[in-house]
Amino acid sequence: MAAAYRGRFAPSPTGPLHAGSLVAALASWLDARAHGGQWLVRIEDVDTPRCVPGADQVILSQLATCGLVPDEPPVWQSTRGALYQQALDRLVAAGQAYPCACSRKDIEEALRAAGRPRTRHGELVYPGTCRHGTGGRPARAWRLHTEGTPPVHWNDRRLGPQQQDVATEVGDFVLRRADGLWAYQLAVVVDDAHQAITHVVRGEDLADNTPRQILLQRALGLPTPVYLHTPLVLGADGEKLSKQNGAAPLDLSDPAQALQDAAKVLGIRLEATQPGWLPGAVSAFERFLDDASGPA
Ligand code: GLU
Repeated sequence: MAAAYRGRFAPSPTGPLHAGSLVAALASWLDARAHGGQWLVRIEDVDTPRCVPGADQVILSQLATCGLVPDEPPVWQSTRGALYQQALDRLVAAGQAYPCACSRKDIEEALRAAGRPRTRHGELVYPGTCRHGTGGRPARAWRLHTEGTPPVHWNDRRLGPQQQDVATEVGDFVLRRADGLWAYQLAVVVDDAHQAITHVVRGEDLADNTPRQILLQRALGLPTPVYLHTPLVLGADGEKLSKQNGAAPLDLSDPAQALQDAAKVLGIRLEATQPGWLPGAVSAFERFLDDASGPA
């Protein structure tokens, strides 16, 4: 029997929700309702320097204002360090993770000396310097061994078949950062498994992270959820809305309007003020998925 559906919305409390994050929240909530499943909220506050005090409570109350109420009490990643440590310990014991002593400057220099392309989406592709030891230098970060892993193939419910060769396109990525903070990739994989998440619905900007997460799931012997990446909301400049580029917080003076605007991005007309709107919205969402995954 298939595992009961468990979905989640996992905002980082770097500011209030904006129009783009409401799309991901609404899509994950509708998908959970469409499957008769459970919908959880996880506050992803591991990157403490980027977190804004109080933003977690603002986000939870914005969701509640929109009627998006989780089926279980929310969890905060900042309370779950012991779980992340256990996962890292297992990877280290299995020879799948290793300490790295390189600074950003060291990595840049090594890549320059090797004449290799330096970046992917602005991120350095780690050249593997510390893969077999730090040469006596003190460890700063911890990385996953990706060398020799085959390309990851996965099927997104909206974007269709995807693939990425993490070993060559991303390289050995960080699990624990030089500043001691847990990396998003490790925390999200551990939590999705620990919370028995079967379906991940989130913004398309994160699609590119999925192959790293699948590699980590495999390394840890964890199941891979089903993924759906939702369309992004673009600002006037054509860039995706994000808290980083100063997206305005949601105007929730009229929550039904905010939900309708978010639903429009999913191609759904939402009459959230009408009684019995939920079944209609759920079937519209199912049609959105059928259209998205059907022939172009
Ligand atoms: N915390 C991430 C963000 O707000 C989302 C992580 C996820 O849904 O996997 O961008």
